[in-house]
Amino acid sequence: MNTTQGAVIVGAGQAGSEVASALRQQGYEGRIVLVGTEAHLPYRRPPLSKAYLAGQATTDSLHIKPRATYEKAAIELKLGCQVTAIDRAARRLALADGQFLGYDKLVLATGGEARRLPLPGASAPNVLYLRTLDDVAAIRAEFGRARTLIVIGGGYIGLEVAAVARGQGLDVTVVEAAQRVLGRVAAPQMSAFYEEVHREAGVTVRTGCTVEALEQRDGRVVAIRVAGGERIEADVVLVGIGLVPNVQIAKDAGLDVGDGILVDEHAATSDPDIYAVGDCANHPNDLLGRRLRLESVPNATEQARTVAASICGKPQPYHPVPWFWSDQYELKLQMAGISDGFDNVVLRGNPADRHFCAFYLRDGVLIAADAVNRAPDFMFARRLVAARVRAPAATLADPSIPLKALLPQ
Ligand SMILES: Cc1cc2nc3c(=O)[nH]c(=O)nc-3n(C[C@H](O)[C@H](O)[C@H](O)COP(=O)(O)OP(=O)(O)OC[C@H]3O[C@@H](n4cnc5c(N)ncnc54)[C@H](O)[C@@H]3O)c2cc1C
Repeated sequence: MNTTQGAVIVGAGQAGSEVASALRQQGYEGRIVLVGTEAHLPYRRPPLSKAYLAGQATTDSLHIKPRATYEKAAIELKLGCQVTAIDRAARRLALADGQFLGYDKLVLATGGEARRLPLPGASAPNVLYLRTLDDVAAIRAEFGRARTLIVIGGGYIGLEVAAVARGQGLDVTVVEAAQRVLGRVAAPQMSAFYEEVHREAGVTVRTGCTVEALEQRDGRVVAIRVAGGERIEADVVLVGIGLVPNVQIAKDAGLDVGDGILVDEHAATSDPDIYAVGDCANHPNDLLGRRLRLESVPNATEQARTVAASICGKPQPYHPVPWFWSDQYELKLQMAGISDGFDNVVLRGNPADRHFCAFYLRDGVLIAADAVNRAPDFMFARRLVAARVRAPAATLADPSIPLKALLPQ
């Protein structure tokens, strides 16, 4: 294929970088330009709340590919460069530096921003968010002089930061508005397990606790006030309350947008020359029977291949089994499927041993699975969830029966 303008990818994160590489791998011969606001080479975000935050990984090790690999594949990097508008009629992008960039095919891989706390004081220098490498630099600087940390939000990122901060000797309190941590994504048994793990590590976990105000002194937050009036002091606050997808340029260009940029099963938006991928994209999923927007590396990587296949004229429908992982202390949690609407949870192994699985069933069908320090089981659990097997609870619960035995023949 030879084109004049080529493919332009907006967003040089996990998904954007993977699209660029997949296009070349799948035989795209036109020009490929990868444009990203951040000045860094495309990098992996998961270590930002894990090994990298803990000081156990270098910045270079985060890079998805070294610069030479992009050069070799003739992928042009335009980093530190923001796209401000899409002119669909002229097929060109407006850039923040006043220049324009034409495209034949456009891929939006714009990810999202950490959701801001909607309270006065939420922009104080010691109220921190975690999405980018630059955020980690700010967190490190604040952690270096802090004694007490409040983490607002008991989701994965909040809990991972809490674990690292405890490792660095901070006095940590996690404040979660819902009745349990990981409430949106995990069964009560899993939430109870992680609350216990954190408490044993010395973290104070406060659930059913809503932050109502940030108390400031000299421009810095010194305490939070929670519903009921209690005041909790902190040197630093980390907010982990989710992500807002970056959809503004898509919306302004008149593309269909809901919770994310709406795409079809081939990752095309409502304009057939524009695709969306990764955290910013909302796709229809046959397996789940509904649309969803996923925030995970596997989704960014696998959907990137779908986009490249569509652009290269070899469309492949995208109906993934979502999967994700989280590292806290010495625990590796791996999750497959979406547990929404489960009516039964079956445990295999004992949470007290820190080595177990939770299986989520709906009407006797396995819809999701979590594995804690049980990677071999997870491998089969993913396949079982994909196959939508009807699994007897007694078999799932019995560690002496290999999960492999449940796979359809
Ligand atoms: C701290 C942390 C821990 C995580 N841990 C895990 C984990 O353990 N497992 C897992 O599977 N996932 C994890 N994730 C999620 C995972 O990192 C994301 O799902 C993944 O990065 C999504 O990739 P993306 O390319 O869609 O978005 P991003 O990685 O956010 O990249 C989007 C890029 O687009 C740029 N951009 C946006 N708008 C424009 C514009 N107008 N012009 C130019 N550039 C633009 C942004 O600056 C950004 O660099 C974690 C995320 C974070 C933040």
